[in-house]
Amino acid sequence: MQFVPFAEGIEVNGQTVWAIVDGFKAFSVLASTYLLKEGIGTADKQGVAVVDPKAWYSQRAWLRAFEQIATQLGDTVLLEIGKAIPRNAIFPDSIQDIHAAIQSIDIAYHINHRRQGQPLFDPATGRMREGIGHYGYTRVPGEKKILSVCENPYPCAFDNGLIQAMARRFEPFSRTEHDDTQPCRKRGGNSCTYIVTWHA
Ligand SMILES: [Zn+2]
Repeated sequence: MQFVPFAEGIEVNGQTVWAIVDGFKAFSVLASTYLLKEGIGTADKQGVAVVDPKAWYSQRAWLRAFEQIATQLGDTVLLEIGKAIPRNAIFPDSIQDIHAAIQSIDIAYHINHRRQGQPLFDPATGRMREGIGHYGYTRVPGEKKILSVCENPYPCAFDNGLIQAMARRFEPFSRTEHDDTQPCRKRGGNSCTYIVTWHA
């Protein structure tokens, strides 16, 4: 299901909220209304929500705001917002190819959420804790192909854009397709599957 948290006590950091809200661009005033209604951020003089990148916000409230914004804007805009996320991201030197890039999504996802005040990923130990689902990575042997099963509460079109843009940072001509033969969160499924292909 889209927009339903997997566990209680999950928070998302302001930097993540801001990266997504920033993608709304022309719709940021509309987005602000929903964020403020859910208690996320504070209104500036123009009434636009200011989100503190270092603060933590309830994932439930954030998903509720995101759902309302998504309903207003539709899948095409959600896809664009997803695509904007990796565009601004700074990648560590360890990420040099499309495989490392797709794998890094799940790690970044866990770094940017916490549960009962505890980080869901510890970079020092590499330990990951559960509570928010995953962005999957499966390499198809012998082919330039990656399957990504996304079991998380974010919307289908948003994840599609996110994976597509991530793949294109390293393989500019790669294709990302939603596997329509698999379950889809938009249709009430628990996950969506995306197929990434490219040619050398
Ligand atoms: Zn889907």
